[in-house]
Amino acid sequence: MSAKLLDGLKISKEIKAEVEKEVKILFETKEIKPGLAAVIVGNDPASQVYVGSKVKTCESLGLYSEKHTLAESTTTEELLALVNKLNEQDSIDGILVQMPLPKQIDADKIFSAISPSKDVDGFHPENVGKLALKQNGFVACTPAGIMELFKRYGLAVAGKHAVVLGRSRIVGLPMALLLTHSDATVTICHSKTQKLREITKEADIIIAAIGRTAFVTTEDIKPGAIVIDVGINKLSEETEVLRYFPDYTKRLEELEKKGYTLIGDVEPVCDTVAGYLTPVPGGVGPLTIAMLMKNTLKAAKLRRGL
Ligand code: NDP
Repeated sequence: MSAKLLDGLKISKEIKAEVEKEVKILFETKEIKPGLAAVIVGNDPASQVYVGSKVKTCESLGLYSEKHTLAESTTTEELLALVNKLNEQDSIDGILVQMPLPKQIDADKIFSAISPSKDVDGFHPENVGKLALKQNGFVACTPAGIMELFKRYGLAVAGKHAVVLGRSRIVGLPMALLLTHSDATVTICHSKTQKLREITKEADIIIAAIGRTAFVTTEDIKPGAIVIDVGINKLSEETEVLRYFPDYTKRLEELEKKGYTLIGDVEPVCDTVAGYLTPVPGGVGPLTIAMLMKNTLKAAKLRRGL
């Protein structure tokens, strides 16, 4: 059996096309241009790439965007001052502060300082609370994108046993809440979970979001299960590439060119057991950016009572 690959890139293009169309109408009819401010602290290369592609996507869809880069040594107070300024800035509808933040910064303080109406990442306690209570607010982009993937592929969630690996505020926790609201029966697993692999074997749906290379193996999956691989891990050794990718030619080329290739939390060979699987890259990643654009458009409309 070979799993059907869930094409996150294709779905993300659909979502972005819808956003682009609405942004155009908003500008033509009301002269409103949704604006996103992306804040990055320090020089983490991966963060630079993520923020760069978020800003580029804004430009390609007709949204206004600003990128603020602060030094690695920035204090919580300095970052708070920028967040407060952006909260007041009329041209900005959405504020995102790229994670991870340097150790000296109190991330909780920062997320709580972002105005809930501009919190397009859905990390503010008010928005997390609204999600828990199934009220309308901003939902974290990655799990929101995964729900869109289910919807647009016509994959029913209600009544299914969904196992979420990871309980972070960015992915695991909001994912579990969204699945619960969609009437799945949800089990959350984390680093202290016992007999985790017995639990995943019972799952109709597995969401793997722990950041551990190829953690989920063919042995851990019920045949035909829907497997969503959120993890982004880097492989930089040829032996690892040969070990994990049965079809390794392209991956070795990539390794030679870039010095690394990406792998998820799910062993690629799981496509022989799962019914549906998201690839890495090209699965969940593009959906996250598309949902950020959708959330920024929503923020622009809500802030003006539209
Ligand atoms: P965090 O490090 O914040 O959370 C990891 C979670 O996984 C924690 O809940 C932790 O448990 C759990 N965990 C870690 N190791 C194990 C283990 N061995 N067994 C069981 N549970 C474990 O990570 P994020 O949620 O931010 O990200 C997870 C992954 O998803 C990363 O690879 C990240 O790069 C990727 N990601 C991808 C995105 C995309 O757009 N594709 C977006 C966001 C993240 P505990 O709580 O007990 O510590």
